[in-house]
Formats: sequence, structure tokens, C-alpha cells
Amino acid sequence: MTFEDLGLEPSTLKAVAESGYTEPTPIQEKAIPIALMGRDVMGIAQTGTGKTACFTLPMIDILSSGRSKARMPRALILCPTRELAAQAADNFAKYSKYADLSMALIIGGTSFTDQERALNKTCDVLIATPGRLLDLFERGKILLNDVKYFVIDEADRMLDMGFIPDVERIAKLVPTLRQTLFFSATMDKQIKRLSEAFLMNPKEVAVDAPSTTATTITQALIKTTVSDKGDTLRKLIREEGIENGFVFCNRKKDVDILFKSLTKHGINAIALHGDMPQSKRTEMLATFKTGIAGLLVCSDVAARGLDVAAVPYVINFDVPNNAEDYVHRIGRTGRAGMQGKAFTLAVPADSKMLLSIEKLIGGPIPPVGPARDSKTSATPVEKKSAKQENKIKRDKIDGGTKDSAPSEPLKTKDQPSAAPIEENKPETSQAVTIQQPTVSQTKMPELQKKEQAPRRQKRDRSRHDPDVGVMDHGEDVLAFGAHTPSFLKVEPYVADAAEPTGTIEQPAS
Ligand code: ADP
Ligand code: MG
Repeated sequence: MTFEDLGLEPSTLKAVAESGYTEPTPIQEKAIPIALMGRDVMGIAQTGTGKTACFTLPMIDILSSGRSKARMPRALILCPTRELAAQAADNFAKYSKYADLSMALIIGGTSFTDQERALNKTCDVLIATPGRLLDLFERGKILLNDVKYFVIDEADRMLDMGFIPDVERIAKLVPTLRQTLFFSATMDKQIKRLSEAFLMNPKEVAVDAPSTTATTITQALIKTTVSDKGDTLRKLIREEGIENGFVFCNRKKDVDILFKSLTKHGINAIALHGDMPQSKRTEMLATFKTGIAGLLVCSDVAARGLDVAAVPYVINFDVPNNAEDYVHRIGRTGRAGMQGKAFTLAVPADSKMLLSIEKLIGGPIPPVGPARDSKTSATPVEKKSAKQENKIKRDKIDGGTKDSAPSEPLKTKDQPSAAPIEENKPETSQAVTIQQPTVSQTKMPELQKKEQAPRRQKRDRSRHDPDVGVMDHGEDVLAFGAHTPSFLKVEPYVADAAEPTGTIEQPAS
């Protein structure tokens, strides 16, 4: 099928062709003709499958016959984060090149004055985050009575971030007689219920199987320990030669810590999280997009749905606290048919979460090399002194090599040198060695087919910060900063029989 077959206007087709798209993605094929008919659409497709164009292209054609009044937009697109809203705005600008339509972007963290000024002019399309839109509405700066085309994008994320009450309020402010389009990367009972609340007799379009994105992602699991995580990450970056990619942390404060640590170790990185002022977030994203920034250390919310082309790697420094976040995170690579690799660092305490992820993706994440030498891994869980505990906390990201230093096979000169082994240090140190994780060595299979509808984990909304829109995952995060390192509370990791054991070979140099 071609874009011409979808029924779009010639001017829109011209802009699409200039974007370099030759054919519609499966979700576009299904959703665009229905949207053009004026029907409500519920679109479900994985991240990176081109959902933005599903609502943007028909919107441009639908709005082209008509005019808006000042402060009275005819289309409203709601996005959960500022970055996603900005991205939708970029898409709109690109596709509406030959249409005479104006747009205002209403997002938090930027000046009210500029946004109010944009609203005072005629504005056909409003692209907004829910909080800022309500602020402006309450100040009387905007009227939603003329909205005929209403889009709720990334509905699952809206739900995760606690924005649904805001979205419900906004939905009541727009006329009941409207066309509504609702998009989500995942689908479960809650999403279904929500769609029923917002949509009228919708046509449901779903692209179930992971499409191009997923099949081009090679996944790998690297088992490590909390204290060795930082070191493991640096080794991975160096051995795999990772120069460009996302590094995900579960908590925003860890984003900063890890970013500083990587920088200190001479690794080219920048950070992005929701606590940063918007100007800084925009700057970071722009820098990252140029490719010169190397690694982008980020939190889930900051990176959700971001469309950064050609990112070859995703590293989960922390196993996400939600199985669906795993799918979203790794969906940052392997986009638009390109090959991508996704590495996940897991500590023993992550085993439960890993099971839930593996259930969701329909198979195991292939392990890469042994997390620990099997001969040395059977270290019993010992009671550590407070001093040891504190030291471990300090070393978790930065350094983290002291325990493993004596048996570290792949030390590079800019990694911290081995510190004296602590008193009472058992001989069976928890050494982490990483094998060069190449495809040939590991035969990492492609992403397993997503066989079942994802199940949403229950989340703690109490830490939800509506302005920055960031969830602090809180105490269920078993990572640095926890009062008692989680690995002290759990059974030590024992490599299972299927895994390669023994110290890994050094790559031939
Ligand atoms: P989603 O919202 O599903 O996560 P996006 O709309 O952000 O996905 O699109 C993901 C990427 O795919 C973007 O870089 C977009 O420009 C690109 N894209 C969208 N549609 C097409 C297409 N038909 N052909 C090629 N690339 C496309
Ligand atoms: Mg999207």
C-alpha cells in the first residue's frame, strides 16, 4: 500500500514524500482512512510504529477546509510530556508544509507570555500537555468550544503519570460533538475503559505483533551485582564500543549521579530528566540528536516516546520497575528498520521483575556471559558492617570496582585502580566479568513476539509530580541510595546451567 491509497490530499502527500516516507506503516495504513472518514479511532501499536502521523496527517486534511478564530483552536492534541508535545509539533510542522494552518505549542516549563501571545493569534491546532493547558484555560486565555478534532496520544503514559483526571477535565471542556483519536502503545483493561470514556463508537485499530522496530532489536541480559554495576556498565560501553545510545535509570537522581560518573571516567554523556528546567531539557535533546553527545543518561518519563533517529544502543542501567517500560525503553533503538542492541544490567534482586518482563515479551532475554564466575559466585550472603555497607553505596556507581578489582580481567587505564581489599573480605570475591557481547558469541535472538496483552503493574502515584511529570519510583527501587543494599537481603545469584560459566575470554586485541 502507498500513501496515495490512503485518501490524503495531494498537498499532504507531497509533504509526506518530502519527509522521505515511501509507504505507510501498518498502523498508518489502518488508522488514516478511518480518521479521514471522521470516525473515532482507538489506535494501539508499539512505540516507534509511526502513530504520530496517524493522527497528524488526517487532521491536516480535515482542518484544511475551515478557519479558526483567535484563541479558539479547532484541533487539540494532548501529549503526556513536553518532549512528546514538542515532537508532535515538529511532525505537524513537517507534514503541514503545504497547508495553511497555524499551531501553538502549550507546554510547561516555558514562558506563559510567549504561549499567550501565540494563542492570541489565530491558532488551528493546539498541541499541549494537560497541566499547562488547564492553567491557561483557567486564566481565560483559551477557549475549547471550537475543538472538533481531539487527540489523546500516549494514553498509557498519561495513565502511568496520573494525568487521566486532567484529561477527563479537558475532555469535558471540548464539545461532545467531536472526533476523538486515542493512541496507546499498550492495551489493557484500564486503557480499554478509558477509551470507552472518551470515544464514541470508535474503530479499534491495532498492530499486535511488534513490527519493524522490535524485530530489529537484539536484546541481552548482563547479570551483575549492585556494587559492580557502575564498573559493569563502563566495561560494556568500552568493550562494545558504544558511542551513541540511551542509558536508562529508574530514578531521576540516579540519572545525575550516573551521568557525572561516566563523565568522570571519560565517557561522552549527557543527562536528561524531568527535574531539569525545560530550556535545559530542550538543549540536551537537541545536543543528543546531533549525535555528538554520545550517551543520553535518562529516566523513563524524560525519554518516553522520544523520536531520536538512529540510536544504535539502549542500556538499562536499572531493570525497569514496570515490564511495559522495558518494551518502551528498548523501543528507542531499532527504529525505522535499523538494527539496534538493548542491554539490560540485572542484579539478583531484579529476578522477579525480569520474570515479569520476560512474560510480557514472551521469552527470556538472552544472558550475555556470566555475571560472575560460577566458581566464585557462591559467596554466601554475609552480614556486612555499616562501613562496608556505606562503602558499597558509594562505590555502586562511581568506581564499584574495589570488590572485583583483583580478578578484573579487562581493566582499562582510566578506570579506578584496585583499592586495598577490605578486612575480612572473603576470598570468593564477587567478581564481575563481561564478555564482549557480540552477536556471534551469544547468538542473541531477536525480540520475542509479544504474545499476550501486557499487564500493567500497580504503581505508586504518591510521588507523582504533575509539573515535571516524573514518577519517582521510590522505595521499591533496589538501587543505590537504598538504606540497606538489596543484594544483602536476597539469595546470592547462582548462574544457571544454561549459562556459560567461568571467566570469560578476553577479546583478542
Ligand atoms: P510512535 O508514536 O508510534 O512511537 P512516531 O510517530 O514517533 O512513533 O514515529 C517513529 C519514527 O518513525 C519517526 O522517526 C517517524 O518520522 C518515522 N516514521 C513514521 N512514519 C513513517 C513511515 N511511513 N515511513 C518511515 N518512517 C516513518
Ligand atoms: Mg508516539
